[in-house]
Amino acid sequence: MISVEDFAAQADAWFAEHTPRGVPFMLPLTFMEVGTDEQFDFLRDWQNQVYRAGYLGAHWPTDYGGGGLTQKHQDAATRVMRKYNVPIMLNAIGIGWAGPLILDTGTEDEKRKYLPGILSADDIWCQGFSEPDNGSDLGNAQLKAVRDGDEYVLNGSKTWTTQGNYAKYMILLARTDFDAPNKYAGLSFFLAPMRIPGVETTKIRKLTGEYGFTQTFFTDARIPADTLMGQEGEGWKVAMRTLEYERGARGGQAGGYTISQTDPLEVVGLAKRATRNGQPALEDPVMRDRLMAQMIEGQAMMANRERAKIMPLVMERPFALPMLSKLQFTEYARETGELALELEGAQSGYYVGEAGSREDGYWQRSYLNAFSATIGGGTSQIQRNIVGEHVLGLPKTR
Ligand SMILES: Cc1cc2nc3c(=O)[nH]c(=O)nc-3n(C[C@H](O)[C@H](O)[C@H](O)COP(=O)(O)OP(=O)(O)OC[C@H]3O[C@@H](n4cnc5c(N)ncnc54)[C@H](O)[C@@H]3O)c2cc1C
Repeated sequence: MISVEDFAAQADAWFAEHTPRGVPFMLPLTFMEVGTDEQFDFLRDWQNQVYRAGYLGAHWPTDYGGGGLTQKHQDAATRVMRKYNVPIMLNAIGIGWAGPLILDTGTEDEKRKYLPGILSADDIWCQGFSEPDNGSDLGNAQLKAVRDGDEYVLNGSKTWTTQGNYAKYMILLARTDFDAPNKYAGLSFFLAPMRIPGVETTKIRKLTGEYGFTQTFFTDARIPADTLMGQEGEGWKVAMRTLEYERGARGGQAGGYTISQTDPLEVVGLAKRATRNGQPALEDPVMRDRLMAQMIEGQAMMANRERAKIMPLVMERPFALPMLSKLQFTEYARETGELALELEGAQSGYYVGEAGSREDGYWQRSYLNAFSATIGGGTSQIQRNIVGEHVLGLPKTR
């Protein structure tokens, strides 16, 4: 097997040569705002290229389209992607949570059927958990799945479905039993096809003017019964496992990155270019303090990310650091954007495409989009509850 160092060096050479530059249209900063066909086609092709070169799913088994190497190889390739700030990987829900879930707990048939298409981006996945009245209270999901022979008939609606209009499959949490002893016992989990009669999506426009998610409507949509994952009534267990992948608490993701992370050094660059009272903002002692604090927090988070990989350090509370990381990284990105906007002063009011905007409104767009990750996959408030209850052992909320 190729050494991690050699693999990383090969990846470095490949990304140096192949990373697209000077793309003539605006690329999304995260997988949650892929809003035009132009962006979609470009990113699908890019993910496919990265996969075919061997830098996505490098550690997934070869039987299912992976590279048969180790997690360390994939991590090295992902680091190189960061170094070159490559465009994001498109099929985030596939590579980040549906894929690892199927890899860990799926049947042999499910693995062979679904995993290769996830890596190549031929099969886009979306997630149908949230409903118009039930987001954080996921256990209250009401979308109805009624068994009828070899099929389930679906009725109801899901919302905030990222890439719902592009997806071929949905990981779907639905209610199969309305009389179960408690709300969790009546739920089931499906690997549901999306391109069937009775499934419709409506795009939702975001605060930033971009699109990226949909409301999804199910009207007597019939899906094969064998798309049920696990047993009927055990959907809550499968959904909770999926959320652990989504929140980064379990490894196994196919790699790459799906949200471009703000480098605080870029804000330092901005502080050199922006002015305060006629001087470079970087010379303002208060601003210097704030920038330093931001850099220190960034370093601490990176150190924690590395610590989370050292088993003896995390044995006692295996999920503690990853659970904290989701909260910290997402809030940090939002705070970094806030700081950048403060640096831009009066100019921060101009958005992408507007005369007078600085750096074509990059920071405005990045700041507004930074809220997405603090909400999706569990809001920061919910994440704090989880850390409080499961990591610190505080009393549970009712
Ligand atoms: C960009 C984006 C993409 C998304 N993509 C998907 C997707 O692909 N698939 C999908 O299924 N969902 C997706 N979501 C939905 C997301 O998971 C939900 O928005 C989230 O779970 C919150 O649910 P809600 O919007 O119904 O808010 P609510 O649950 O109504 O919460 C409203 C507010 O109350 C707070 N709150 C609620 N309950 C508590 C509590 N017990 N303790 C403390 N505070 C509480 C929340 O933190 C929040 O601030 C996406 C969301 C965003 C923003």
